[in-house]
Amino acid sequence: MVEYLPRSAWNARPPNGGPGNLTVSRVEGAVIHWPGTGSTSVIHSKAAVASALRGWQDYHMDTRGWSDIAYQVAVDQAGRAWTLRGLRTQSGANGDTDVNERYGAILLILVTGEQPSAAMKATTRGVIADFRRIYPRGTAIRPHSAVRPEPTDCPGDPARAAIARGEFTPGHSEDDMTPAQMQELKNFIEARTQAYALWTHRQLRKDLSAVVKAYALDIKNYERQTDAADAARAAAAVWATAPPSLQADGAAAEQPAAPDPNVDPELSLPDLDPFPDAPAAAEAEADAGK
Ligand SMILES: [Zn+2]
Repeated sequence: MVEYLPRSAWNARPPNGGPGNLTVSRVEGAVIHWPGTGSTSVIHSKAAVASALRGWQDYHMDTRGWSDIAYQVAVDQAGRAWTLRGLRTQSGANGDTDVNERYGAILLILVTGEQPSAAMKATTRGVIADFRRIYPRGTAIRPHSAVRPEPTDCPGDPARAAIARGEFTPGHSEDDMTPAQMQELKNFIEARTQAYALWTHRQLRKDLSAVVKAYALDIKNYERQTDAADAARAAAAVWATAPPSLQADGAAAEQPAAPDPNVDPELSLPDLDPFPDAPAAAEAEADAGK
C-alpha cells in the first residue's frame, strides 16, 4: 500500500461535477502518461511538483472545461505519490469516454528525454498493485500511445521502454543494479557462504574432537576401574580358599611367638605308644563305636 499525498498537498481546487467512479468489471488496466511539457526543465522538488499539478489542474478545468485535473494519481522522480482524482474516479486523460472507462490514468512527472528513476518505478509498481486490488481484472499496463485513438508520443520513449521491460509491473525485481554490481553482490554472497561453511566445518570438527577425547578418557577411566574391581574380586576369591589360620578375621591368625634361643624347642609330638593296638583291633573298636 503506497502512501499518497492528499489533494491538499498541492493545494487542489475542489472538482466540478465529473464522470464519477469507474465500473470495476469494465476496467482492463492502467495507462501511463507524462505531462508532455515539451521542455527539458525537470520538475523534481516537492514544491515544484505541487505547483505544476496546480497549473495542470487550472489548464484542464479552465481551458479544457473538464471537471478536474485529468489523471487519477501522479508519481514524481523522488518516488512521491500524489492523489489527483484518486484511483476510484474515472479519468479524463486517455482520449475518449471508451478508453477512459476501460483504463485508469497514472501521471509520471517526467520531462522530455528524462529517464524514470528507480524510486519513481518502485512507487509506480506500488500504485499499480493498489490499482489491481481495486480492479482485479485490470492487470494491463499500457503507454498512452498504445490506447489513444489519436496518435501521441505520451509518455515519452524512456517510460515506454521501461513499461516494455516490465519495470512498472508489480513484483518486478529491482533494476537499479548494473550487471557488474550484481556480479559483485553474487561474489560477496558466495564468499560469505563459503567462509561460513568453513567456519561451521572447523567448529564441528573441534567440538567433535573434544567429544572423542572426553569419551576416550571415560573409557580409560572405566577400564582402570574395572581392572581394579577385577583384581579385588580375584584377590577375594584367592583369600576365600586360604586356610582359616591365614584368614585375617580368625583367632588362629595370631602369629606364633618368636622362639627363645636359650630354650630347647618343645617337641609337640605325642608320646609314642610302645605297644600300639593291632590295626585290626583298632578298626574293630572304631566300628563298634559307630
Ligand atoms: Zn497521456
